[in-house]
Amino acid sequence: MATLDRDEGVVLTMRDYAETDRILTVLTPGHGKLSVLSKGARRATSRFGGALDLANRLQIVYYVRRKGLHLLREVTLLESFPALREDVDRLEAALWGLGLVNRVVPAETPDLHVYGRVRAFLGAVAGGLDPELARVAFSLQLLVVSGHQPRLDGCMACGGENELTWHPERGGLLCRACGGGGEEVSPKVWKSMSALIRFPLDRAGRLRLDQTTLSRMKGLVDGFWRHQLHR
Ligand SMILES: [Zn+2]
Repeated sequence: MATLDRDEGVVLTMRDYAETDRILTVLTPGHGKLSVLSKGARRATSRFGGALDLANRLQIVYYVRRKGLHLLREVTLLESFPALREDVDRLEAALWGLGLVNRVVPAETPDLHVYGRVRAFLGAVAGGLDPELARVAFSLQLLVVSGHQPRLDGCMACGGENELTWHPERGGLLCRACGGGGEEVSPKVWKSMSALIRFPLDRAGRLRLDQTTLSRMKGLVDGFWRHQLHR
Protein backbone atom coordinates (compact mmCIF):
# COMPACT_ATOMS: atom_id res chain seq x y z
CA MET A 1 0.00 0.00 0.00
CA ALA A 2 1.24 3.48 -0.90
CA THR A 3 2.48 5.62 1.96
CA LEU A 4 1.25 9.18 2.33
CA ASP A 5 3.49 11.89 3.68
CA ARG A 6 3.05 15.61 4.26
CA ASP A 7 5.17 18.70 4.71
CA GLU A 8 5.22 22.37 3.84
CA GLY A 9 7.58 23.69 1.20
CA VAL A 10 8.64 26.38 -1.27
CA VAL A 11 8.37 25.68 -5.01
CA LEU A 12 11.87 25.94 -6.50
CA THR A 13 11.24 24.74 -10.06
CA MET A 14 8.32 23.67 -12.18
CA ARG A 15 8.22 22.02 -15.60
CA ASP A 16 5.63 20.54 -17.91
CA TYR A 17 5.46 16.80 -18.18
CA ALA A 18 3.50 14.56 -20.54
CA GLU A 19 0.20 15.95 -21.85
CA THR A 20 -1.23 17.70 -18.83
CA ASP A 21 1.10 17.07 -15.89
CA ARG A 22 3.73 19.08 -14.08
CA ILE A 23 6.85 18.14 -12.17
CA LEU A 24 7.75 20.40 -9.28
CA THR A 25 10.80 20.66 -7.09
CA VAL A 26 9.76 21.67 -3.60
CA LEU A 27 12.14 22.54 -0.77
CA THR A 28 10.66 21.29 2.50
CA PRO A 29 11.94 21.60 6.06
CA GLY A 30 11.25 17.98 7.04
CA HIS A 31 12.11 16.05 3.88
CA GLY A 32 14.55 18.32 2.05
CA LYS A 33 14.27 18.91 -1.69
CA LEU A 34 11.49 16.78 -3.18
CA SER A 35 10.46 16.10 -6.76
CA VAL A 36 6.71 15.67 -7.05
CA LEU A 37 4.50 14.88 -10.01
CA SER A 38 1.22 16.73 -10.21
CA LYS A 39 -1.17 14.81 -12.46
CA GLY A 40 -3.40 16.98 -14.62
CA ALA A 41 -1.93 20.20 -13.20
CA ARG A 42 -2.13 21.95 -16.58
CA ARG A 43 -5.80 21.21 -17.11
CA ALA A 44 -8.06 24.25 -16.76
CA THR A 45 -10.07 22.23 -14.27
CA SER A 46 -7.07 21.30 -12.09
CA ARG A 47 -8.13 21.31 -8.48
CA PHE A 48 -4.80 22.81 -7.43
CA GLY A 49 -5.63 25.99 -9.36
CA GLY A 50 -3.00 28.69 -9.08
CA ALA A 51 -1.37 27.24 -5.99
CA LEU A 52 1.32 25.58 -8.08
CA ASP A 53 3.63 28.45 -8.89
CA LEU A 54 7.30 29.27 -8.40
CA ALA A 55 8.20 30.69 -4.97
CA ASN A 56 4.81 29.82 -3.48
CA ARG A 57 4.88 28.26 -0.03
CA LEU A 58 2.57 25.27 0.09
CA GLN A 59 1.31 22.57 2.37
CA ILE A 60 1.56 19.32 0.41
CA VAL A 61 0.35 15.76 0.89
CA TYR A 62 1.95 13.20 -1.41
CA TYR A 63 2.29 9.50 -2.08
CA VAL A 64 5.85 8.44 -1.41
CA ARG A 65 7.44 6.62 -4.31
CA ARG A 66 10.75 4.91 -3.93
CA LYS A 67 12.32 6.19 -7.14
CA GLY A 68 12.10 9.80 -5.96
CA LEU A 69 9.31 11.23 -8.12
CA HIS A 70 6.50 11.39 -5.59
CA LEU A 71 2.87 11.85 -6.49
CA LEU A 72 1.10 14.98 -5.29
CA ARG A 73 -2.27 14.39 -3.74
CA GLU A 74 -3.27 17.58 -1.94
CA VAL A 75 -2.05 21.15 -2.01
CA THR A 76 -2.89 24.12 0.17
CA LEU A 77 -1.46 27.54 -0.57
CA LEU A 78 0.16 29.01 2.55
CA GLU A 79 1.90 32.07 1.16
CA SER A 80 2.21 33.51 -2.35
CA PHE A 81 4.28 36.70 -1.78
CA PRO A 82 2.17 38.96 -4.04
CA ALA A 83 4.68 41.82 -3.63
CA LEU A 84 7.27 39.65 -5.40
CA ARG A 85 5.10 39.25 -8.45
CA GLU A 86 4.32 42.93 -8.82
CA ASP A 87 7.93 43.91 -9.46
CA VAL A 88 10.07 42.33 -12.15
CA ASP A 89 13.39 43.02 -10.36
CA ARG A 90 12.16 41.45 -7.15
CA LEU A 91 10.76 38.45 -8.95
CA GLU A 92 13.95 38.00 -10.93
CA ALA A 93 16.09 38.14 -7.78
CA ALA A 94 13.81 35.66 -6.00
CA LEU A 95 13.82 33.19 -8.89
CA TRP A 96 17.58 33.53 -9.25
CA GLY A 97 17.98 32.68 -5.55
CA LEU A 98 15.63 29.69 -5.79
CA GLY A 99 17.50 28.48 -8.89
CA LEU A 100 20.76 28.60 -6.93
CA VAL A 101 19.17 26.65 -4.07
CA ASN A 102 17.96 24.03 -6.53
CA ARG A 103 21.48 23.62 -7.92
CA VAL A 104 23.33 23.37 -4.64
CA VAL A 105 20.94 21.53 -2.31
CA PRO A 106 21.08 17.73 -2.58
CA ALA A 107 17.78 15.83 -2.99
CA GLU A 108 15.87 14.62 0.08
CA THR A 109 18.37 15.86 2.64
CA PRO A 110 16.46 17.96 5.19
CA ASP A 111 18.27 21.08 6.35
CA LEU A 112 16.38 23.52 8.55
CA HIS A 113 19.07 26.20 8.16
CA VAL A 114 18.74 26.24 4.39
CA TYR A 115 14.94 26.25 4.61
CA GLY A 116 14.98 29.10 7.12
CA ARG A 117 17.30 31.16 4.92
CA VAL A 118 15.10 30.59 1.88
CA ARG A 119 12.00 31.76 3.74
CA ALA A 120 13.82 34.80 5.11
CA PHE A 121 15.12 35.61 1.63
CA LEU A 122 11.67 35.50 0.01
CA GLY A 123 10.22 37.54 2.85
CA ALA A 124 12.98 40.16 2.61
CA VAL A 125 12.72 40.56 -1.17
CA ALA A 126 8.91 40.75 -0.99
CA GLY A 127 9.26 43.19 1.90
CA GLY A 128 11.21 45.67 -0.21
CA LEU A 129 14.89 44.91 0.47
CA ASP A 130 16.93 46.03 -2.55
CA PRO A 131 16.85 42.99 -4.88
CA GLU A 132 20.55 43.22 -5.75
CA LEU A 133 21.54 43.43 -2.10
CA ALA A 134 19.20 40.56 -1.23
CA ARG A 135 20.78 38.47 -3.96
CA VAL A 136 24.35 39.06 -2.76
CA ALA A 137 23.45 38.55 0.91
CA PHE A 138 21.46 35.39 0.24
CA SER A 139 24.12 33.83 -1.94
CA LEU A 140 26.73 34.53 0.76
CA GLN A 141 24.50 33.01 3.43
CA LEU A 142 23.85 29.99 1.25
CA LEU A 143 27.61 29.49 0.94
CA VAL A 144 27.79 29.39 4.72
CA VAL A 145 24.90 26.98 5.31
CA SER A 146 26.15 24.66 2.56
CA GLY A 147 29.59 24.44 4.14
CA HIS A 148 31.54 26.68 1.74
CA GLN A 149 31.92 29.77 3.90
CA PRO A 150 34.56 32.10 2.42
CA ARG A 151 37.26 33.36 4.79
CA LEU A 152 36.62 37.07 5.25
CA ASP A 153 38.73 38.01 8.25
CA GLY A 154 41.87 39.24 6.52
CA CYS A 155 44.54 37.27 4.67
CA MET A 156 44.05 33.51 5.09
CA ALA A 157 47.80 32.96 5.34
CA CYS A 158 49.05 35.76 7.61
CA GLY A 159 45.92 37.45 8.96
CA GLY A 160 47.04 40.81 7.52
CA GLU A 161 44.55 43.34 6.22
CA ASN A 162 46.63 45.12 3.57
CA GLU A 163 46.47 44.62 -0.21
CA LEU A 164 43.96 41.77 -0.11
CA THR A 165 42.94 39.89 -3.24
CA TRP A 166 40.24 37.28 -3.91
CA HIS A 167 41.07 33.60 -4.29
CA PRO A 168 38.03 31.29 -4.49
CA GLU A 169 40.32 28.32 -5.16
CA ARG A 170 41.95 28.93 -1.77
CA GLY A 171 38.70 29.79 0.01
CA GLY A 172 38.91 33.55 0.54
CA LEU A 173 41.27 36.50 0.82
CA LEU A 174 45.02 36.44 0.30
CA CYS A 175 47.38 39.42 0.57
CA ARG A 176 49.98 40.25 -2.07
CA ALA A 177 52.86 39.47 0.30
CA CYS A 178 51.48 35.92 0.66
CA GLY A 179 51.15 35.38 -3.09
CA GLY A 180 47.75 36.95 -3.73
CA GLY A 181 47.20 38.28 -7.26
CA GLY A 182 44.63 40.11 -9.34
CA GLU A 183 42.51 43.13 -8.49
CA GLU A 184 42.58 44.33 -4.91
CA VAL A 185 39.50 43.94 -2.71
CA SER A 186 38.88 47.12 -0.72
CA PRO A 187 38.30 46.87 3.06
CA LYS A 188 34.82 48.29 2.55
CA VAL A 189 33.95 45.42 0.21
CA TRP A 190 35.25 42.51 2.25
CA LYS A 191 34.09 43.92 5.57
CA SER A 192 30.60 44.44 4.15
CA MET A 193 30.56 40.86 2.87
CA SER A 194 31.53 39.65 6.30
CA ALA A 195 28.73 41.76 7.82
CA LEU A 196 26.17 40.36 5.37
CA ILE A 197 27.00 36.87 6.56
CA ARG A 198 26.46 37.84 10.19
CA PHE A 199 23.37 40.03 9.77
CA PRO A 200 19.89 38.61 9.38
CA LEU A 201 18.61 39.49 5.90
CA ASP A 202 15.98 41.90 7.14
CA ARG A 203 18.75 44.05 8.63
CA ALA A 204 21.03 44.00 5.58
CA GLY A 205 19.47 47.25 4.31
CA ARG A 206 21.05 49.10 7.23
CA LEU A 207 24.51 48.67 5.71
CA ARG A 208 23.69 51.39 3.13
CA LEU A 209 25.94 50.03 0.42
CA ASP A 210 26.55 52.06 -2.72
CA GLN A 211 26.09 50.56 -6.18
CA THR A 212 29.82 50.18 -6.86
CA THR A 213 30.45 48.25 -3.65
CA LEU A 214 27.41 46.10 -4.30
CA SER A 215 28.37 45.16 -7.85
CA ARG A 216 31.94 44.40 -6.79
CA MET A 217 30.61 42.11 -4.03
CA LYS A 218 28.28 40.43 -6.50
CA GLY A 219 31.21 39.68 -8.84
CA LEU A 220 33.26 38.20 -6.00
CA VAL A 221 30.45 36.05 -4.60
CA ASP A 222 29.39 34.81 -8.05
CA GLY A 223 33.03 33.88 -8.73
CA PHE A 224 33.19 32.00 -5.45
CA TRP A 225 30.02 30.06 -6.26
CA ARG A 226 31.27 29.28 -9.78
CA HIS A 227 34.35 27.76 -8.25
CA GLN A 228 32.31 25.67 -5.77
CA LEU A 229 29.95 24.43 -8.49
CA HIS A 230 32.61 23.50 -11.02
CA ARG A 231 35.35 21.97 -9.00
ZN1 LIG B 1 49.11 37.47 3.92
